[in-house]
Amino acid sequence: MKFGFDIDDTLINLREHAFHIYNRKLQQNIGLDVFHALTTMEIHEAFGLTKEEGGKLWMSLRDDIYYSDCAPFPHAREFLHELVKQGHEVYYITARAKEHTERTREWLIQNGFPVTEGHFYCGMSDTEKVHIIEALELDYYFDDKPSVLATLSQLPVKAYVKDRSYNRQLDLPRITSWEQFMEELKSK
Ligand SMILES: [Mg+2]
Repeated sequence: MKFGFDIDDTLINLREHAFHIYNRKLQQNIGLDVFHALTTMEIHEAFGLTKEEGGKLWMSLRDDIYYSDCAPFPHAREFLHELVKQGHEVYYITARAKEHTERTREWLIQNGFPVTEGHFYCGMSDTEKVHIIEALELDYYFDDKPSVLATLSQLPVKAYVKDRSYNRQLDLPRITSWEQFMEELKSK
């Protein structure tokens, strides 16, 4: 079967990683309780920044956020390797900007994710993901972003939401633990 994955905040804990970088950069010490209570994908509110200030800060730190030591979610890598081992196909579909395609692909490989030639898609808009997912005829797709998941309801793909503080209102099958999901899938 074909499994497609968003990367940021689906497979890797990017926003929390960025949250620590913001704290360092802004010489603050905002607690993770604030992070976990955020109802927005953007993290700038926790630092008292406007949308514009937050956007500027994110852009100025983007390389550091993307290519330093962001942690994968527990068992995300193991799950993907297990899928490959069982003969399934693993695809990555990330809306990171096009200029980050090669470095993001390299980062995944260097950080132990299984990346097959031709199975990595980067640089589309959120609303374009649906076309790739449809063309690939994915059986499963995983994402954290409500606006992306909302575009998939007409497709036969089994869509799952990776549980995050800003997507709790979504009524879709939910991944709270990759390890648990891996076990669930085995028993199907
Ligand atoms: Mg994401």
